[in-house]
Amino acid sequence: MLDLESVDVHYGDFQAIHGISLTLDEGETLAMMGANGAGKSTLLKAVSGLLGASAGAVRFGGHDLAGTAPHERVAAGISLVPEGRRIFKSLTVEENLQVGGYSRRPGPWNLTSVFEAFPLLAERRGRIGTHLSGGEQQATAIGRALMANPRLLLLDEVSLGLAPVVVKDIYQALPVISSRGTTVLLVEQDVSQALAVADHVQCLLEGRTVLEAPAATVTRDDVAAAYFGLE
Ligand code: ATP
Repeated sequence: MLDLESVDVHYGDFQAIHGISLTLDEGETLAMMGANGAGKSTLLKAVSGLLGASAGAVRFGGHDLAGTAPHERVAAGISLVPEGRRIFKSLTVEENLQVGGYSRRPGPWNLTSVFEAFPLLAERRGRIGTHLSGGEQQATAIGRALMANPRLLLLDEVSLGLAPVVVKDIYQALPVISSRGTTVLLVEQDVSQALAVADHVQCLLEGRTVLEAPAATVTRDDVAAAYFGLE
């Protein structure tokens, strides 16, 4: 479904991504890991169209996305939940979700299925954004993206700055999300959480792939070594 082939990405003269390839099939979850500055967010931007690839190809459903604007990629079924959980703070949880479903593709996601994936949101459905905890806001941001029925959900650092107990709630939703056929590309610094939910893991170091394997074959130590370039 998603296929990156030898992708380079530049910010002006600075090359942030060097020849990255990956393949993600329908319904799979891939965790992209690496230290700060490794290039994970840049890679998500290249998939969502916020940045163009300066070399290589990004293909989605067999189509080359070169020259395709971010809104066209959303229409094709790619949704990004950026770092920092930007929700509409003056709206309730339910209203935020409805906004996400405004121009929806056909698919399994609606208010009922989002509330099934995130029971904590069902309990808070009438609560306004400013009165939500960080984790509740994060869950709302993911739920809002799901309401559009993306084929591919891009999640950037969903657990960043959240209390462990809330991270657990959010991670419990990920298998539910995949079980409904939604493909997930997850950027995550929490190695244990990532290994627990992902089918595949890929680790970046200074914009290059240093580890790529089925999650079941990888240990925390393997990932730690790859983070620091020890492999
Ligand atoms: P983090 O966890 O800190 O977000 P990351 O792995 O997502 O890290 P990126 O944000 O993709 O890393 O950054 C990759 C590299 O690109 C870093 O060296 C960073 O300094 C550089 N970079 C990121 N954004 C820009 C920008 N707008 N202009 C120039 N360089 C940038």
